[in-house]
Amino acid sequence: MPDYNYDVIIAGGGPAGSSAAAHLAQMGYKVAVFEKEKFPRDHVGESLIPFCYGHLEKLGVLEQIKKIAVRKPGINFVSADSEHRTTWCFASTLKDPSQLSYHMLRSTFDKMLLDNAKRKGAAVFEEFKIVDVDLTSPEKAVVTVENTSGQREVHRSRFLIDATGQNTFLAAKVGKKVSYPGLDRVALFSHWSGNNFDRALQNGLIKIVYLGGEKIGWCWMIPVGKDLLSIGVTLNNSYVKQKKSEYSHYGAEWKTHLYEDEIRSSAEIQSIIGNGQRTHDVIVMGDYSYSLTKRYDTNFAIIGDAAAFLDPIFSSGIYVAFESAERTSLAIQQLFETSTTAGLAALENHYTHMDKSYRLLEKFIRLFYKPEVMNFALVGDPERLMYHKFEAAYTIFHNLLAGDFFTNADKYCDFIDEIEKNNWFQKYVTLAHSKELQFGLDVCDETAHEVYGDLDESLLDLPQIVH
Ligand SMILES: Cc1cc2nc3c(=O)[nH]c(=O)nc-3n(C[C@H](O)[C@H](O)[C@H](O)COP(=O)(O)OP(=O)(O)OC[C@H]3O[C@@H](n4cnc5c(N)ncnc54)[C@H](O)[C@@H]3O)c2cc1C
Repeated sequence: MPDYNYDVIIAGGGPAGSSAAAHLAQMGYKVAVFEKEKFPRDHVGESLIPFCYGHLEKLGVLEQIKKIAVRKPGINFVSADSEHRTTWCFASTLKDPSQLSYHMLRSTFDKMLLDNAKRKGAAVFEEFKIVDVDLTSPEKAVVTVENTSGQREVHRSRFLIDATGQNTFLAAKVGKKVSYPGLDRVALFSHWSGNNFDRALQNGLIKIVYLGGEKIGWCWMIPVGKDLLSIGVTLNNSYVKQKKSEYSHYGAEWKTHLYEDEIRSSAEIQSIIGNGQRTHDVIVMGDYSYSLTKRYDTNFAIIGDAAAFLDPIFSSGIYVAFESAERTSLAIQQLFETSTTAGLAALENHYTHMDKSYRLLEKFIRLFYKPEVMNFALVGDPERLMYHKFEAAYTIFHNLLAGDFFTNADKYCDFIDEIEKNNWFQKYVTLAHSKELQFGLDVCDETAHEVYGDLDESLLDLPQIVH
């Protein structure tokens, strides 16, 4: 007789871990989630893409999220000099309720998802860190956890899911972490209040400001509350290293000064910040963009950020985490209910599919850093398209921005290759560009009244105020 305490143990209770726990518990398995933090806890990554909608519905949290989220109708891309901007409104191509996506504080969102996993039947242990695992037996995972007082317990399960995010708990034990060349970045962010929301932010749009030159990065502004703005900057690693020595006289505070200087160097952000106040310390996420060489076997699977992470320009992380959690749960069901061979085949199939999506995402991200080929801030308003042959291309880009990474990934890759080869969009911009074409807010205006409509700020776990 097997001596398991659980069918599946999940390391990490972020969106990947909590959604996998909900799926598996709903399938009737005995699941335990060990999460090292006490929720609510702060986390970066506050903007959802429309393709998350179906997952929120399946997980049964759609009504709850409406109360804690600002509605997001699209993206406002702004050029580095803030002279050009284009709004990509999801309603241009999506004709169902998912066209109004969401921004939310991750503290509240992640807690909602973890509570949901508990409600579905998963056992959730917060402030328990997974510190060791033995995977030598192919049909068992022996997991050692430690609580905040340093006490250890050993648990055994038929299967282990690593959903430890950028901590990548299993990476070193089962394979190697490989970086994406040229996509190494550092991000710094905080929240602000008392700012001057412009029309785009009032309409619930995320703003992405391209930063060219040696920074090779971008800034984001996300309205996460009626008077709460998430402002972040993503910069190339080598630029940050150079700045670290320039800012050494600030001692431990160098990152805070770098953050403030970088965001204020953007005219767009400076005018929106106005007399606003930063509401908490600057959070730094370093040196990311990687994938793992081995992500599954007969007794484990790695999902969400723990498996791979790519530059978050297109807000893809949570959607990818949801997809990988659901698909992995289905493969585990095959493994448990048929045979190890069938289960392994299902896992292999799933990860091959994931790889195609990562390849597409990587191409899409690299395109963002080639504004000479495709400048998202400068292409103009799709509603006033003057050249019909670009309609299809606009639709394809809208679908990609909405999150269509898992169907037809190969076709989308071919499309991006074509765009790069023929410089299509650059030709279009040269032909059609005029001041009048730079603003595409009209479509999003139609939904503006709904943006803050359902939000109940008394439910938010607001970040701690800086003194
Ligand atoms: C700068 C930046 C901006 C981003 N912006 C967006 C965005 O706008 N939209 C979007 O969708 N995504 C965004 N992302 C990505 C998004 O944050 C992640 O993809 C998402 O959080 C992945 O979820 P996850 O569950 O895999 O990992 P996480 O959310 O990181 O959860 C992992 C959990 O595991 C726990 N843990 C770690 N180690 C252990 C251990 N040993 N034992 C137990 N528990 C452990 C952690 O405490 C954590 O709670 C952004 C990321 C960055 C870096």
